[in-house]
Amino acid sequence: SAEVVPQAPEDPLFGLMAAYRADQDPKKVDLGIGAYRDNNAKPWVLPVVKKADAILRDDPNLDHEYLPIAGLVPFKTKAADLILGADSPAIKEKRATTVQTISGTGAVHLGALFLARFWTGTKKVYLSNPTWANHNQIFSNVGIPIAQYPYFSKETKGLDFEGMKSAILGAEDRSVILLHACAHNPTGVDPTMDQWKELADIMRQKNHFPFFDCAYQGFASGKLAQDNAAIRYFVEQGFELVIAQSFAKNFGLYGERAGCFHAVTGPGAEAESTITRIASQLAILQRSEISNPPLYGARIASTVLNDSKLFAEWEDNLRTMSGRIITMRKELRAKLEELGTPGTWNHITDQIGMFSFTGLSEKQVLKIREDAHVYMTKNGRISMAGLNTNNIDYVAKAIDKVVRE
Ligand code: PMP
Repeated sequence: SAEVVPQAPEDPLFGLMAAYRADQDPKKVDLGIGAYRDNNAKPWVLPVVKKADAILRDDPNLDHEYLPIAGLVPFKTKAADLILGADSPAIKEKRATTVQTISGTGAVHLGALFLARFWTGTKKVYLSNPTWANHNQIFSNVGIPIAQYPYFSKETKGLDFEGMKSAILGAEDRSVILLHACAHNPTGVDPTMDQWKELADIMRQKNHFPFFDCAYQGFASGKLAQDNAAIRYFVEQGFELVIAQSFAKNFGLYGERAGCFHAVTGPGAEAESTITRIASQLAILQRSEISNPPLYGARIASTVLNDSKLFAEWEDNLRTMSGRIITMRKELRAKLEELGTPGTWNHITDQIGMFSFTGLSEKQVLKIREDAHVYMTKNGRISMAGLNTNNIDYVAKAIDKVVRE
């Protein structure tokens, strides 16, 4: 009976958003939300998305029919090119398959569900510590046990590469290792290319299964074709792997839920038939979960991805976003150093992507929320896009104050 259903805790991030909205103080600052904001703290509809939207609205032949189970073909094709590289051996050798999903979350879920059903190795997924909180729930929900590998060094506020390597080396053979392809959430810390190569060596030695989560392509280096370098390297090395790809952040299509799940098999005579079988099982899972994916966001992204002029404009829009974030990093660091705030602040400009892991403690996070109405997640993560020229002085002073207390 219904009485046995216990009250679940509120989602921490969405709870933070609600607390921010309820706060009446005019000085309040939202550094919690993982969504781009412009210099006026407003959501930014990418100009290229507005153009694609107008093109779609002017098309008299557009209807609202169902998509195929695996999604919109021209969208999926270009999404695969984008994440694997158009010249990828996996694409040429027809050993990659793509399913359009409910954004990145749906892609992680579909991958988790597929592995829960078909992975014959160790049914355990290793997540970075820390990671995007939802990873834990998504894998738990499909019954895959979770383990962690160290990732963030509190001392250097950079990568704990030794800890990461030894945990991956120590994991049972044929474990699933979840890797953030770029712009790690929440730390903003990525392995270097040399470190990725070392990780690939260990992964091969242990026959681990790489599960890449890519939610920020274009936000790390500012270049789309560079932010997939780790994935490209693993594919070139012949790994069998899967990828969850989100277009929420890089297109600003958060609520439209545009994303893809990709599976790649290793090279070999059987590769094409293996991928065909995998695609058939993914279609069955997709059918029972969502039947078929949502149309609108995929149409917008597809319009841009399939037109070289619009694509170039998209890259320009991406540079606007990543450029503003980089400026905010520089300014926040400079202001803290100017104030002589105790501690070192180079990590703010060393870290990349949308977030910075400030190193503020949970106590400090709660204090700065109460005293200065500055909202960030309890782990001290700030969304750099929440900073702008109007609030950065105020935020730097608030951080300075809370650190000194
Ligand atoms: N993975 C990571 C690491 C993320 O940060 C996010 C977005 N917060 C996602 C996946 C998925 O987001 P979405 O479902 O909105 O695409």
